[in-house]
Amino acid sequence: MAKYPSHLSHLIAFLKKFPGVGARTAERFAFHMLEWPEDHLKHLADLAATLKEKVKHCDICGCLKEKEQCAFCEGARDRAALCVISSPKDAYAIEETRFFHGLYHVLGGLLSPLDGRTPDHLSLQRLKDRIASNQVTEVIVALESTIEGDATALYLKEQLSKLGVKISRLALGLPMGSPLEYIDGGTLSRALSGRQLL
Ligand SMILES: [Zn+2]
Repeated sequence: MAKYPSHLSHLIAFLKKFPGVGARTAERFAFHMLEWPEDHLKHLADLAATLKEKVKHCDICGCLKEKEQCAFCEGARDRAALCVISSPKDAYAIEETRFFHGLYHVLGGLLSPLDGRTPDHLSLQRLKDRIASNQVTEVIVALESTIEGDATALYLKEQLSKLGVKISRLALGLPMGSPLEYIDGGTLSRALSGRQLL
């Protein structure tokens, strides 16, 4: 069986690193790219090469930023409400509901002791500092309904309950095991409005 030219094989190997992309899809993408005009390919390569330099994590909340501060931290937002999310992408899903107008805090993952993800992998101290120094009155825990999400929510409750803030979690009824980004806006809005005290 003839092999692909090695340059193409390397490209396919990279494309396979995307979530949900198997060998067949990666091959299809790579062959498709062969038909792109040269300037498209250069533009894509340039976007990828400068991605980490242009898009950084906000030092305050962990969301994505292009300037000194992220659009959330620098905007006119309700600073007494903090929404705890596991990844920066979740902020965009919540923004789409137009229900929440507070600030975000990216935890950077979920607790999963079996995979070695212990509390010191989460940005917990920064969360506590923000709550204490910004007169936060409500923390909304917006984590997915999985074993890891539930364990992390309980741990947060335990850790934050001494700080005198109201802690609520997105209403049950979120599809079990579904990442926030895959939940439709209507369901997410209902989960936010029906949030329950932890
Ligand atoms: Zn920020």
